[in-house]
Amino acid sequence: MKRKIILVLVCIFVVSVFCTGNTPESGKLQVSVSILPQKFFVEKIGGDLVDAMVMVPPGGDPHIYEPRPQQMVELSRSKLYFAIGIDFEHSWLERFSSANPDMKIIHTGENIEKIAMQQVELEISKEEGGHEGHDHSEEGGHEHHHHGEEGGHDPHIWLSPPLVSEQLQIILQNLIQIDPGNENVYRTNYDAFIEEIDVLDTELKNMFSDGNIKKEFIVFHPAWGYFAKAYDLRQIPVEIEGKEPKPRDLIKLIDYAKTNKIRIIFVQPQISPQTVSMIANEIGGEVITADPLAENWLENMNIVAKKFRDSMK
Ligand code: ZN
Repeated sequence: MKRKIILVLVCIFVVSVFCTGNTPESGKLQVSVSILPQKFFVEKIGGDLVDAMVMVPPGGDPHIYEPRPQQMVELSRSKLYFAIGIDFEHSWLERFSSANPDMKIIHTGENIEKIAMQQVELEISKEEGGHEGHDHSEEGGHEHHHHGEEGGHDPHIWLSPPLVSEQLQIILQNLIQIDPGNENVYRTNYDAFIEEIDVLDTELKNMFSDGNIKKEFIVFHPAWGYFAKAYDLRQIPVEIEGKEPKPRDLIKLIDYAKTNKIRIIFVQPQISPQTVSMIANEIGGEVITADPLAENWLENMNIVAKKFRDSMK
């Protein structure tokens, strides 16, 4: 008897969760986002009122990600989807829309001017000439998964504090629009977060304005282009067009690192191929992680900035 009652209760629970759709237990506003830093942004503004479901799980690589069936189910409870322009959105946003036609899809980067995925000229001072063959044009990148569909545009707009502030404005507007009763809460949270970002931005400007540091860093996957732009740094990618470098490019890079005494190769925890340890060996340096996808974005920006700064001494 007891079992039957429990079974009935479980059924009612399951039915209520799946049928009421938009109002789960928590009573919070359900939204979805692509990557963990966005979850942080939305929940900073939404506070206790909003729950953000993230599509790419911790440790996942957004370049090769595909949603799990369970996530498609959860998606049906979301009122908003904040897209940021990473690869998997191109093939999935439309399907998300058909799974939940009432969900509004917002592109937080729509007003941001995208830079090209960076191609760096490594001029090695001891040798002149050889400035040919930079025909890494836009069409490349098909044998690898990185940013192929971006047409060469850099999607990593969540790694520059000033660009994050711009995106928060759009997140704020949309939360208010869908939940006007809590406008004051959202605005207060937003103001506080913007202030934190301003503090961070000032700190980073100071950190990197030192005239005695090298102001460049080598990173396997070039996720830090907007960061570099914001603080007047130079990002030197190991990858070329989202692919492992050719031997010729590799030799150039190793040569450059040696000449300029760059000893650190940064990698992200999600992608760290053998090439990297090989380069580190060659230059007698080490491999250090810089995570572009950590959930606590604010803390992570400080951590990564300090690592970059330390590598520039
Ligand atoms: Zn990337």
